[in-house]
Order: sequence, then structure tokens, then C-alpha cells
Amino acid sequence: MTWAPLPAHLAKAAAGNRHARRGARKELYATLTAVVEARPCGSCSACCTSLGVQSLRKPAGTPCSHLAAAGGCGIHARRPTACKEFFCLWRMGVLDDGDRPDLAGVVLNPKTTGGVRWVQAMESTPGSLERDETFAKLNRVAAELNVALVICRPSDQEPIDILGSAPNVEALATALRRSLPVTK
Ligand code: SF4
Ligand code: SF4
Repeated sequence: MTWAPLPAHLAKAAAGNRHARRGARKELYATLTAVVEARPCGSCSACCTSLGVQSLRKPAGTPCSHLAAAGGCGIHARRPTACKEFFCLWRMGVLDDGDRPDLAGVVLNPKTTGGVRWVQAMESTPGSLERDETFAKLNRVAAELNVALVICRPSDQEPIDILGSAPNVEALATALRRSLPVTK
């Protein structure tokens, strides 16, 4: 089942909360087994381009300036905490072995807002979200993890789609509205 995208300002409010992001990872990781040893990053560095890194002022969709020419992180030992703590959900055993983000074209990023767990599915290879097969897999992930799954492109202001059960999508929408900053 698909749902209309949330307004951009709600999605932006959720994306900007660093503490919430960390809480999300810990909580969602805790529900999964552990980093799957058989699933190392290998030659993938999709998250280093498709996701933003606040401490580096690196926007989503821009290759990190620390990416090594031969692949991997050029500052591995002193990379930011956000990078040290991050594992995409493929590394946590979600999706199939062959769906490594650089091959599938989507990075699954665990998040939480106002205590509500959700997953951001960020396109890392242009065009990958146009495949029906990708949407079918993302629908399965939303059902299996019992979360709302927000599909985005780094270049777009608004999510492309939101997958998940009606209660999960409604819970996320409510949490996002609550997390909006109060301004004059
Ligand atoms: S997207 Fe996942 S598999 Fe690829 S480099 Fe990042 S954490 Fe590793
Ligand atoms: S600092 Fe290293 S791990 Fe972090 S985004 Fe840049 S290349 Fe990737």
C-alpha cells in the first residue's frame, strides 16, 4: 500500500534532529540481531555519497571529500562519530545478500522521531526507485520491521512515497508534527 508524501517541512524537521537519529539507530539496531559479519561494506560506499553528514557539513547526494580514490574512507580512524555509529540496514541483515546498497541503489537508514521508529530509504543510484522490484522489496521491509518507510531522493525536497501500515504512517506523521520547532 502506498501513501501520499508528507509535506516537506515535516520531513525536514525529522531529518534535522541529531539526537533523535542516534536514538533511532540504537533502538532499531537492538531489534535486529547485530552487524552481520558475512555482510561487510566491501567496495560499497553508497552512504558516503547519498546521506548527509552534519558534522562535515556534507549534504545528501554529494560525495564526501574524504572518500579515498581507491574506495573506502580516507580518514577511517578519525572519521566522525556519526560515521562510526552508522550501519545501513542491509548490514544488519535486512534485504537479501545481493541487495548491497551500491548494487540495489538504495540505502536504508534507521531513524526515530518522538519515540517512533521509521526507516528512510534513500536512492543512491539514480533510477533505482523506478523499478517495481525495488518498491516490492521496500514494501516487504516496512511490513517485516513494522515501521513506516519514507522513500527519498537526495535531490528532492519532498519524499517520493511513504510505505507501511496506516497506523505506522499515522504515528510517524503525528511524531513529525510534534517535533516541529516552535517559532514566533
Ligand atoms: S551503505 Fe551500508 S554497506 Fe554501503 S558503505 Fe554504507 S554501511 Fe556499508
Ligand atoms: S568521513 Fe569517511 S565514513 Fe564518513 S562520509 Fe566521509 S568517507 Fe564516509
